[in-house]
This record gives sequence, structure tokens and C-alpha cells, in this order.
Amino acid sequence: MTTNRDNLRQHQLERLNAPESGLALLRQQNAFYRQKIDGLTLPLLSLDAMSALPFTLKSELVDDQTNNPPYGTNLTYEPSAYTRLHATSGTTGRRLKCLDTADSWAWFTYCWQEIYRAMGVTSEDRVFAAFGFGPFVGFWAGFEAAQQIGALAIPAGAQSSEQRLDWLLETDATVLLSTPTYALRLIQVAREKGIDLAASSIRNTLCAGEPGANIPAIRERLETGWGARCWDHAGMSEAGPWGYQCPEDEGLHVIESEFYAEVVGVGGNTPVGEGESGELVLSNLGRWAQPAIRYRTGDVVRLKSTPCSCGSPFVRFPGGVLGRVDDMIPIRGVNVYPSAVEAIIRENSNVVEFQVDIRQERQMWAMQVEIEVAPGTSEAEVRAAISDALSIRLGIRSAIRSMPAGSLPRYELKARRFRIHR
Ligand SMILES: [Zn+2]
Repeated sequence: MTTNRDNLRQHQLERLNAPESGLALLRQQNAFYRQKIDGLTLPLLSLDAMSALPFTLKSELVDDQTNNPPYGTNLTYEPSAYTRLHATSGTTGRRLKCLDTADSWAWFTYCWQEIYRAMGVTSEDRVFAAFGFGPFVGFWAGFEAAQQIGALAIPAGAQSSEQRLDWLLETDATVLLSTPTYALRLIQVAREKGIDLAASSIRNTLCAGEPGANIPAIRERLETGWGARCWDHAGMSEAGPWGYQCPEDEGLHVIESEFYAEVVGVGGNTPVGEGESGELVLSNLGRWAQPAIRYRTGDVVRLKSTPCSCGSPFVRFPGGVLGRVDDMIPIRGVNVYPSAVEAIIRENSNVVEFQVDIRQERQMWAMQVEIEVAPGTSEAEVRAAISDALSIRLGIRSAIRSMPAGSLPRYELKARRFRIHR
């Protein structure tokens, strides 16, 4: 008897083996992947054969573009065939330039259509993109996919938060696309203006670009503040938009019809077992013009492949992306990620804003947390509560400092609340 997952794996194998568009095409036309695929027998007899392919690292792609400027050798077609250019945000070093042809961009936006379908967004919806449309791929594809499903796409970049709020209310928007930090910021600005966003027409918020929607305390604050369901989403310029939140809240599903996903031990190459965490490795199955094959994403996830209550055959990652490989802090044999620290700080609703410095002192990790507390609350009590929670739940020693109201940075896009000094 074949199961859904067997069919899915067969579909993935067929996509990789397609002579006109799969690995065979890359071996023929893509200089970067030719060397990796060379030793492989094609067509693949099974997906297990993929494990013979070397991983692709972000640093390799960046080095390749440095050595072969400006666009590198991970190009399957002539330069003139490409119609779009985006770039990684460059927060961890040099930017990586990502190119798409009309076909590969159509694949990118198709993945977003799948996300909207999972959320129940339809042609009746009005999708409000609170996002500055720059080189970062961010919500560009989400904006275009909204039109493709027949919804109304509303651009909302290049305005003050007050103007955005007016624009959002004036347009009767039903779906908000933004970073979780910015969705929280809008709640705060609305409150200051005496606007109750829970009474607005927004029914769904889709948060991406940074962790947040996967952190229960943040999600709860977003759902209460907006009076709307909050959805987590994950993706990246290099590999594509790969994940959407399970409608039954079982975690983040990988769109496995468009991606072949593996989870391997952090720093290793052995697949992790059911329920274990490791680094997500992705191969996209439709962006052949500049593909990511066995790409080490740097995202740490926990693998669950048992049938999901929502009926999806796709694997899921409970708790979403748990953190980045580079941000891992090993404390007494346990790997702690900034998102776990953030989750604890955010549980305290008296914390308005915060910033964390983590450093190693005499072989021990120590953390300095600066917080702004809500007016009228006891700063000493909030400090003690956070310090105790970090110590008991994560085993981290911390020093907490109160800061004057409004002194810590506010973020609209990529938040930088954590500084890790190694
Ligand atoms: Zn599910």
C-alpha cells in the first residue's frame, strides 16, 4: 500500500530526475553544481542517493560570487535569461545576490500561493504588505502571490507608522504581512493614538523575516493586539519560501511538494531521528535557474514526520525555527538559542523593550539584559522575575539592568536585540 508520503517522495524523485529541468540539466548547464553532481548516477534510483551529493554552504555561494563577479557560477542559463535580482540581507557578512528567471520566480510565488491556501486566504481578502520593498526578497513574492490568487494587494512601504495605520484602516485590509517586531510596533503606535486594532478588519497576520510568531508569548500578544490569527512563515532568498504554520498549530510544515528537506546533526552530516533537532538542509525542486541543492540553511529545527492532525503529508517542525546554528550557546551540555531567551523575557508583559549581550567569562556564559519596563511597575520585581526564570529554565546566569523609557532601540524590520560575543 502506498501512503501519502510514498507518493510525495515519488513526486520529489521525479522532479529531481526530470531531464529538462532537474539534476541532469544542472550537470549540463550549471557550472557551480556540475562539479558537485558529476560523480552521481542519474537518474537517481531513490531519494536516498541524494546523500552522496555534497552539501552546499552559503559561504561557498558567496565566495563563488566574489571570485566570479558579479553573479557567480550558480547560473543555469545565459545572464540575459534572468529577470529579477534580490539579495540576502547581509547581516552575517557579504550579501549573496539571488537571480531568477521568469519561470523560477513563478515557482517562488507559487510557493506563496500554497502558504495563502493553508491560511485560508482567498480572492475576497485584502493583503496589506507593511514592508519596505528593497533588495531583500522579504514580502515581494507574497505581494505578487496575493494578486495571483485574486486577492487585493496593498503596498504599504515608505510611510510613518501613523500613516500606515491610517492606510490600513482606510483600505479595510484583512491580512497583514510584516515582521513580528513591526506587527508589535503597530499595536503600540495604535494604542498611543487610541485605536483598537482588534476592532479592525484584519483577520490574519503573517509574520516572517525573524523569529517571533513561533514564540508563544509573542504570538499571544500579536493575536490579542490584532484580534486576528497569527501565522508563522519561514523562507530565505537562497532557497525560497519553504515553510508555513500548521493550521492545527502542530508546528511549521515544509512545502515538501516543492522542497526536498533533510535534517542533519548540527555540525555533522548524519540525519537526525524522529523528534530530534538538527540543521535543516533544503533542495528546492522548481528554481532550476539558480537552485539550492542540499543547502545547509543554518536553521535549527526539531523533526516530526508522523501524520499531522491537519491532514498534511508534509513533515513539520514543532516550535518553528528554534534558532540559527551560529547563535547556538552551549550551556552545560544543552544548546540554548536566543529565541528561547526571548520567549522567557517576552512572557513578562511588563517588559516594553529589551536588549541582550551574551559573552563568555572564564569558560562560563553570562548574559547582560537591559530592559525597559512599563510605567507604574516595580522595576526591581521585574528584574528579579526575569533573572530567576533565566536561571531556573535555561541555567543561565544573568545581570538585569533597568533602562529609562524610550532609551533602547525600536526596530521596524530586522531586530538586533541579541549581541553574542564569542
Ligand atoms: Zn499540520
